[in-house]
Amino acid sequence: MKKISDLKVSISGIRGIVGKSFTPRLILDFTQAFSTYLGKGKVAVASDTRPTRDMVKHAVFSGLISSGNIPVDLGVLPIPSFQVYVKDSRANGGIEITASHNPVEWNALKLVLKGGRFPFSFEAEEIIDIYQQGAFRKSEYFPMKEYEEDSFKYHRKRLLSFADTESIKKRKPKVVVDSCNGAASPYVEKYLRELGCEVIAINTDPNALFPHSPEPIPENLKQLSEVVKKYGADIGFAQDADADRLAVVDEKGEPIGEEYTLALAVMSYLEYKRKSPVVVNLSTSSVIDEIAQKFGVKVFRSKIGEINVVEEMLSYNSFIGGEGNGGVIAKDVHLCRDSFTGMALILELFSKSKKKISELKAELTQYYVKKDKIKVSLKESILIMEKLKEKYKNEKLNLKDGIKITTKNFWIHIRPSNTEPVIRVFIEGKDKREINSVLSDILGEIESLRR
Ligand code: MG
Repeated sequence: MKKISDLKVSISGIRGIVGKSFTPRLILDFTQAFSTYLGKGKVAVASDTRPTRDMVKHAVFSGLISSGNIPVDLGVLPIPSFQVYVKDSRANGGIEITASHNPVEWNALKLVLKGGRFPFSFEAEEIIDIYQQGAFRKSEYFPMKEYEEDSFKYHRKRLLSFADTESIKKRKPKVVVDSCNGAASPYVEKYLRELGCEVIAINTDPNALFPHSPEPIPENLKQLSEVVKKYGADIGFAQDADADRLAVVDEKGEPIGEEYTLALAVMSYLEYKRKSPVVVNLSTSSVIDEIAQKFGVKVFRSKIGEINVVEEMLSYNSFIGGEGNGGVIAKDVHLCRDSFTGMALILELFSKSKKKISELKAELTQYYVKKDKIKVSLKESILIMEKLKEKYKNEKLNLKDGIKITTKNFWIHIRPSNTEPVIRVFIEGKDKREINSVLSDILGEIESLRR
């Protein structure tokens, strides 16, 4: 049995620090396990722009070929484009090399199954099981890898038929986009022009280093804000390194907050595409409930993690959903978080409503969100969660994923992380002072329960 303690394994893939926990040996073994699981056929391989991508990619190729699969090299490609490629090219599966919003020293393998979706947890467990047992298929035939010249083509086609380019062309928004020199870099400027925007693209060199941390949170949007103000742009967009998450800056250069990316996209979808139930995760802002109520549609809340949202979108026949961290999912394009889809929806809303981004945000309730975490061991976290459940048993509780307590003024979501030895705490309400004080109380309480 192989040790996997130095590996971060979650339902979205495996990740680690390159050269430390994320070694060629590990990449090779894990790829062989996945390749064995897939059976024989073509397997798409792409990456974001991290400088370690070639080392990782060649280990992935080797793992695939040694078990008789044919790798198809797609070059640098955003993860949503990659998922669409796997679906539309009818590949047997795919591996994208990206650590998403993590800093540059990290890298990861994201596994994609036939049809372009991430594994459900039972499937991920099966793959990990093959890895742990080392039961890899051996092949006597070592195929050559193939290349794909235009790997963005399927995604582009779907996006352009989904977006209302007529309306966007009429208003011709002036847009600044920051791709953090990540996977969207080769494609995003052309895409926004095709939608009908005037575009100023910054940090779109796929061969340069990340100019800032790739997580699209307000503290990493300073340059984008400056450029929006300098050019008097209508909107600023920021994507993370694999381009599944989207952040928005308004015409004043103010980040609207990740939760409001999804809010504007859902608003646009329900107003201009179709009425549909909305699926979001348990930690996503209540602003979604407010929007759904306005359109008379239901909101369903899933466990945290993109694939959990997707699973519930399928079971409730939902066309629109996502995660509050800027992850917009529209079934029309593909059931995956997609910053390109998010941009199309927000640009349509901007163009048809004839309002400014700051005005669109101001029409919604302004919630105050705080996110924090406490380091605890797995054993401690199980005990702490049990004690919290007992203590709050008389409150309005949701126990689907950790504990979510909903009161009149705020909700608080406490859950052990799937990927790190921490307990995460999310809180949202309208009163900043109250939120800060409740958060510090609950952090103190968790601290005291571990003793
Ligand atoms: Mg990402």
